[in-house]
Amino acid sequence: MRLNLLGPPGAGKGTQAQRLVEKHGIIQLSTGDMLRAAAAAGTPVGQRAKAIMDRGDLVPDEVMIEIISERLDRPDTAKGFILDGFPRTVEQAKALDNLLEDRGVQLDAIVEIVVDHDILRDRILGRARETGGSRADDTEATVAKRLSVYREQTAPVAEYYGRKGVLKQIDGMGTIAEVAARIDESLKAGTDA
Ligand code: AMP
Repeated sequence: MRLNLLGPPGAGKGTQAQRLVEKHGIIQLSTGDMLRAAAAAGTPVGQRAKAIMDRGDLVPDEVMIEIISERLDRPDTAKGFILDGFPRTVEQAKALDNLLEDRGVQLDAIVEIVVDHDILRDRILGRARETGGSRADDTEATVAKRLSVYREQTAPVAEYYGRKGVLKQIDGMGTIAEVAARIDESLKAGTDA
């Protein structure tokens, strides 16, 4: 199974992705995790990405497309994967279409977790407190920036998939279990769900 999970920062994408990984025996491809690992390793790409992430901006499309392209070529993606945090721009979404077509595969579902933006800020800052502020991009200023970047650059990705008729939108309000149940239901239903 190949899935794409969309939703603003704080929507619970990471949590739901981890659950789907266990349930379906697939791997999670989180571009945020890949960038944080590159930053921690101090690679040139990682160092540049860290400065961009710390201010809540997006890493350039060509860098991200290269990263995900290399990742998709690793053999462990053969059993299925869930994309978490990619694509974040329409440019990335179009590139992903081409990358998948080149490899002769398709996404089985694209699920958008829809959450009221007003409550996201509180959720993300709550996460920052729980993790002891270990993520440099979970500060108040960057959270506001990341939400506006989402509205301007990533919301159009959902519209892009919506126009293609392949988007499933689910309500992201409620408990983790409630949202999980809605995702499972949408994966069972046809593409017009
Ligand atoms: P995340 O863990 O998905 O919230 O990502 C953390 C940060 O990594 C984002 O705020 C961006 O700065 C960067 N990032 C992750 N994925 C992408 C992407 N697909 N395109 C551009 N920047 C990204």
